[in-house]
Amino acid sequence: MRREAMLEFDHEIACDILVVGGGCAGISAAAAAAQSGAKTLLVDAGAMLGGELISGMPLIGAVTMTNRWVVGGMLKQLLDICQEFGGYIGPVSDFRTLNVVAFDSEIMKIAVAEFLHRSGVEILLYTLADRIETRHGRVTGVVLRNKSGRSLVRPRAVIDCSGDGDVAISAGAPYESGDAATGAFQALTLMFRMVNVDADAFLRFIASQPDDFDLRHQPALGMTREQCIAALVRQGLPKAAMMATGLTLKRAIASGEMFPVSALAIAPVSRERREVSINATRIANIDATDTQRLSGTIRDLMLQVRSCSAFLKRSVPGFENAHFSGLAPRVGIRETKRVIGEHQLSRDDVLGSHRFDDVIGLGSHELDVHGAGTDHLREVIPGAGTYDVPFRCLIPKGLSNVLIAGRCISSTREGHSSARVMGTCMATGQAAGTAAAYLAGEANIDDVRLIPIEELQRRLAAAGAVLN
Ligand SMILES: Cc1cc2nc3c(=O)[nH]c(=O)nc-3n(C[C@H](O)[C@H](O)[C@H](O)COP(=O)(O)OP(=O)(O)OC[C@H]3O[C@@H](n4cnc5c(N)ncnc54)[C@H](O)[C@@H]3O)c2cc1C
Repeated sequence: MRREAMLEFDHEIACDILVVGGGCAGISAAAAAAQSGAKTLLVDAGAMLGGELISGMPLIGAVTMTNRWVVGGMLKQLLDICQEFGGYIGPVSDFRTLNVVAFDSEIMKIAVAEFLHRSGVEILLYTLADRIETRHGRVTGVVLRNKSGRSLVRPRAVIDCSGDGDVAISAGAPYESGDAATGAFQALTLMFRMVNVDADAFLRFIASQPDDFDLRHQPALGMTREQCIAALVRQGLPKAAMMATGLTLKRAIASGEMFPVSALAIAPVSRERREVSINATRIANIDATDTQRLSGTIRDLMLQVRSCSAFLKRSVPGFENAHFSGLAPRVGIRETKRVIGEHQLSRDDVLGSHRFDDVIGLGSHELDVHGAGTDHLREVIPGAGTYDVPFRCLIPKGLSNVLIAGRCISSTREGHSSARVMGTCMATGQAAGTAAAYLAGEANIDDVRLIPIEELQRRLAAAGAVLN
């Protein structure tokens, strides 16, 4: 995006709130804003809405290891629609550190469209937020570009859910990229799926060779390693992480059958199709805002998909009769730019379960930095705790009518590695949408910093958000 003094455009579109980016954060922000009564336009550069919700991965950060829901509101509404359409599986534990929420990613595509429709959000697909105009720290206009030409919007507030902080950074907010010291970026991953997986045979294999998997004593649940393994088998769903430290994967990597990877994360997608998703492929240290470099990863990631599905069929019981069934709609991007706001969520905030007076949502995921090859930093929050995400992390420095939500919120690299998961992204999205709608409805307030925090928290709680 570029900042320009005078914007050129072909036509105008009226809206109170513009949400840029229709990933999980953007759909939550747009729905919250529209449900609060604001005329809301959601734009995305791509062809589909929902982001990684429709890639096959399960949702993390919504339910703690001890089975407590810590994100509600917009997320719950969306999951209810997914259940109405027959695509909801629900919380599934891996009995190590994660309690994910599983659902059918194909049905989720339909649920996302319905959720936005019922919320009253106007949408524009294939549309890039391209140019902005600012005056004294205020975004006064955004030009959207698509096949119909250039459209000018002059919203009261903009919510940047672009993942890359496109709007906030173009408007002048400071930012950081990946690991500033080393130039590292978390790995890119192309998610894929396989059908006809025999979950019982797979679980029996896990029980017979637990050292191949990440299974351990779980103090937060008061369970020994053996009890965790038994509980995983009883649960009956194929949710496990096969580790590079285990014999089966280690051998495959050593022989070149598999590419170097820390773990193969397997999760259920559909009971009916006996389908799982596999989070395994990886290419690290690519700046995904460099479109040429991002595009250059596609073939190698596809080759990794082929090697990994062949490895599973050949070497992992339960997968002998499974078949490759699909790819995520796009390459998954874990990390690009983080906008610097009024507070940067830090490692200590996460691991210390820090509480803030201006809490707008809870985070619960571990520190989780995917490096190159088998390199992977993971550090869990002691006692399956949660931390507060303060409203200040959503306010870019120097801007009065822009909010950020999702994976570009203000955080250090380690803070980001926890808050980037979809549960937390949807919580920050809901908070940004609710705050922007407040701003749009109050003629005498022109800076998001002046929104009374108790009133914002009251509105969030009334809409089902979890704040404590
Ligand atoms: C491979 C992988 C595995 C993961 N595993 C899990 C997991 O198991 N569970 C979990 O909960 N989380 C997981 N995560 C993290 C999580 O999925 C993401 O961090 C989260 O989905 C980010 O959501 P977002 O809405 O902030 O951004 P994004 O999903 O990146 O959405 C940003 C959207 O903005 C659009 N956009 C960007 N710029 C513009 C512009 N200028 N104009 C218009 N549109 C624009 C893009 O097209 C995109 O759709 C994983 C991430 C990856 C990549």
